[in-house]
Amino acid sequence: MPAFDYRKIMCRPPPNPENSRTQSRTALLHWEEMTHSDLLPAWGRILRGYRPMLSLEITKECPLRCPGCYAYGGQHLGELVTLRDLTDRRGDDLVNGVLAVVRRHRPIHLSIVGGEPLVRWRELDALLPKLDAMGVEVQVVTSAVRPIPAHWASIPSLHLVVSVDGLPPEHDRRRTPATYERILKHIAGQSLIIHCTVTRHMLAREDYLHEFAEFWSNRPEARKIWFSLYTPQEGETSEERLTRDDRRRALSMLSGVAARFPKVYLPRVVMDGLLHPPESPAECIFAQSTTCISADLETRITPCQFGGKPVCEECGCIASSGLASIGRYAIAGMVPVSALFSVSRKIGTLWGAAA
Ligand code: SF4
Ligand code: SF4
Repeated sequence: MPAFDYRKIMCRPPPNPENSRTQSRTALLHWEEMTHSDLLPAWGRILRGYRPMLSLEITKECPLRCPGCYAYGGQHLGELVTLRDLTDRRGDDLVNGVLAVVRRHRPIHLSIVGGEPLVRWRELDALLPKLDAMGVEVQVVTSAVRPIPAHWASIPSLHLVVSVDGLPPEHDRRRTPATYERILKHIAGQSLIIHCTVTRHMLAREDYLHEFAEFWSNRPEARKIWFSLYTPQEGETSEERLTRDDRRRALSMLSGVAARFPKVYLPRVVMDGLLHPPESPAECIFAQSTTCISADLETRITPCQFGGKPVCEECGCIASSGLASIGRYAIAGMVPVSALFSVSRKIGTLWGAAA
């Protein structure tokens, strides 16, 4: 195979220099880093038949009942079983089970979700240093419903992401018992990412997202703020779902917010992806490069982390958007990355089948 100069991928720079890749190695999926230091190893993995990213639901338990939660949706794991039906693990059984899955899949990046991962904080306490020693970048997505152990702040490969559903009045109503008061107490001393999924109620006021970004920009624990848009399932009618017009308004508001608050990570590459999401899972680089496994550590979640039948054309996932956008860029002005990716996946699948 001819040498591939991955530095020639033409990604436009993010609009705000503070948002550049030098700010941190956050990970939801490092699309900026993937154009540089992570792209070649990721491609190498794909060519050997591996998917470079892994997402694990490590428990089926969660003390919250958030409206619009896809994990507990009836179709999340298909027609036959729901997350609550699975037999999940705990203690050494969970620790060893996760390590076995990681050794089998050899991901560059592991996303640990739930349920609520902190329900298994003791197991995570044992796992995270081991994963760090294995060189795996780990993202833990949590509601911060319980205290985050202070010593996790010194694990280099760990990226904590706290989900916050808007400003206190709405968030506390939707996500009790993980209220603002608790979150602020439980994240003390950490340096983490605040992640807000924009749903319809946040668009009722023009300055809502601005206020949200201002609040978290002023908190020392928040090193970065992510926004994604609510991704519905086919046939869903819910208060969360954005109309086409809502989506346009949300992106226009977010563009203003990103220009005003440096902690908001919304580079052009993500914005472009949110404006033009993949048309189907087959077109989605994120879905094609991520293995998603549920709480029994066996059941696959398809076609992507949302499970069920997500509406790709209304996808609001920033990882999928960023990668979709990168996929449209040309290498050396000629070959779209998505085309190279698709060929690489086919070679990798054949290689994997032949091995
Ligand atoms: S915290 Fe997460 S898993 Fe739990 S109900 Fe809310 S969205 Fe679902
Ligand atoms: S819903 Fe989004 S992340 Fe899932 S397959 Fe469709 S485009 Fe990809």
